[in-house]
Amino acid sequence: MAAKVLSCGKKHGIIPLVEEQCAVRYRLIRKPKKTFTLRVTPAGEVVVTAPVRAAKEEIEAFIARSERWIASRRAYWRRHALDLADGAVICICGRQYTITAGRAALKGKRLYLPREGREDALKEVLRRAARMRMYELLQTLCAQWGFAYSSLRITSARSRWGSCSAKGSIAFSFRTALLPDGCAMYLAAHELCHTRHMDHGPQFWREVETILPDYRTIRKELRKYAYLMGYL
Ligand SMILES: [Zn+2]
Repeated sequence: MAAKVLSCGKKHGIIPLVEEQCAVRYRLIRKPKKTFTLRVTPAGEVVVTAPVRAAKEEIEAFIARSERWIASRRAYWRRHALDLADGAVICICGRQYTITAGRAALKGKRLYLPREGREDALKEVLRRAARMRMYELLQTLCAQWGFAYSSLRITSARSRWGSCSAKGSIAFSFRTALLPDGCAMYLAAHELCHTRHMDHGPQFWREVETILPDYRTIRKELRKYAYLMGYL
């Protein structure tokens, strides 16, 4: 890429990163904090959070120092890119489906998606799949462990997999449909335990452990799927 310094708007800038004429486009967010942070979005965009008074040179030096990390994050997102082309395989609720052109539906071993607007169609498929799966898991756990909850919602939340309100209203992200069975079961158990303990105190974790003695391993596994939150 040529080392062109384009006009810097208030929030966007292009800076020369290394002398070999490479440039990193970044988005700048200023915050009343003393620290710099860096994040790479699934689309590969670099987002920098900087102190309100930080000079441009300081910000760009920070980015230059993080060059390797940025490259590794971009590689990570490329590895986990969502492929919705015909013939691609996708795992939904623990089962593998081959993507095929057609009216949006899960049938047999195929996930049918229309030629246009595939992402929106997939979102709807995942929403329905997540609702069915999480409902069944909640019902099973309630019957087995005597829990009760008031309602189930499927949301688009990116910040968390699930939540439970003080009134026992449970919500899960539609992206939970893309998780393996063990992780989905853990999330259902986790939110149900919140109907008894609203915090994450020792009593809460004891309750989770009663239901899933192996929950620590599953929690670790769940972290590997953080990239799903960047999808759709
Ligand atoms: Zn929790």
